[in-house]
Amino acid sequence: MNAVFANLPTSIFEVMSRLAREHRAVNLGQGFPDDPGPEDVRRKAAEAVISGWNQYPPMMGLPELRQAVAAHYAHHHGIVFDPEAEIMITSGATEALAGALLALIEPGDEVVLFQPMYDAYLPLVRRAGGEARLVRLSPPHWRFDEAMLRAAFSRRTRVVLLNNPLNPAGIVCSADDLDLLARFCAEFDSVALCDEVWEHVVFDNHRHLPLISRPGMRERTVKVGSAGKIFSLTGWKVGFVCAAPAVMRMLAKAHQFITFTTPPNLQVAVAYGLGKEDAYFTRMRAGFAASRDRFTRGLSRLGLKVLPCEGTYFLNLDIGALGEKDDADFCQRLVKERGVAAIPVSAFYEDAPVKSVVRFCFAKTDATLDAALERLAKGV
Ligand code: PMP
Ligand code: GLN
Repeated sequence: MNAVFANLPTSIFEVMSRLAREHRAVNLGQGFPDDPGPEDVRRKAAEAVISGWNQYPPMMGLPELRQAVAAHYAHHHGIVFDPEAEIMITSGATEALAGALLALIEPGDEVVLFQPMYDAYLPLVRRAGGEARLVRLSPPHWRFDEAMLRAAFSRRTRVVLLNNPLNPAGIVCSADDLDLLARFCAEFDSVALCDEVWEHVVFDNHRHLPLISRPGMRERTVKVGSAGKIFSLTGWKVGFVCAAPAVMRMLAKAHQFITFTTPPNLQVAVAYGLGKEDAYFTRMRAGFAASRDRFTRGLSRLGLKVLPCEGTYFLNLDIGALGEKDDADFCQRLVKERGVAAIPVSAFYEDAPVKSVVRFCFAKTDATLDAALERLAKGV
């Protein structure tokens, strides 16, 4: 057995969803919406299964989807990608990240990661032979600064992996912070692997700025997106990677021997969906923002302290304010005794975990959120 995987616990998302089923809890743990996703997009997929081409699509992805991704980013982010040379379709963002790490690093290379980090990152870095250099972010602002980057980057830093907007913290990186990171990438000749799956799920006056569009980053950034988060279809696992041609050639070599392709029927439907009118994206954001606000109000009425949420499906509760010392224990009690599942944020840390924050997924119907609040009203 390979030691990287042999020593890993089961993913916290799987653990909490199982506990939620066992205890008939309201599941606000694993991040998936109650909403079934746009019906027109699902119909497109169904039609493509029945009457479309269901054999292997091209390794790089269906041309119509690659063109749709290019048109989508040109329209929404003002970035021009060549669909032939700079865009590849993968089986979710996870495959894109795994492939990029395998393609970009050699054993012994260093990879800078920001804690809290999505649970797949560290095992994927280590399995690819990378050595992790961790930057520790902490509430309430979860920001990095120059001194933190200076302590993490070295001549051996090949890749820095940034998740923006950040799951689980719910923050969106500012232009200044992105430009600071860009300066380090240039100084240390590193590639930025940017997990932007939450790019459309941003609220209020926050705007998602892709790192690849910042000065000096066009040739040294791998931008990763996912249809799962854009269309509330998390099980679809259709991801997209954008990078300059020289980098993309490397990424394609890894992808061809991981999944090789991604289901063509889902690709057809995502190509259609990416072209939806702006109103769809505006409504989607407004719907999630309304759920965030409803849940925030409910928790505040119970005297609970929530942290600001600028993007993602997640709202964080500051349990330190309740005198709680251990988020994992708190979540176990909450699911077993109160019937509400949440995620302990310490699960996103490898060392020196923040143990005072618990993550709730608010991408749920009002009825689901209210049911959770009713249970929490009995005490936490
Ligand atoms: N990265 C982050 C930060 C995520 O939150 C998620 C899933 N929520 C993923 C990657 C996985 O994306 P996919 O399902 O497209 O593999
Ligand atoms: N990304 C989802 C979350 O943060 C979970 C995905 C998974 O279960 N691996 O909740």
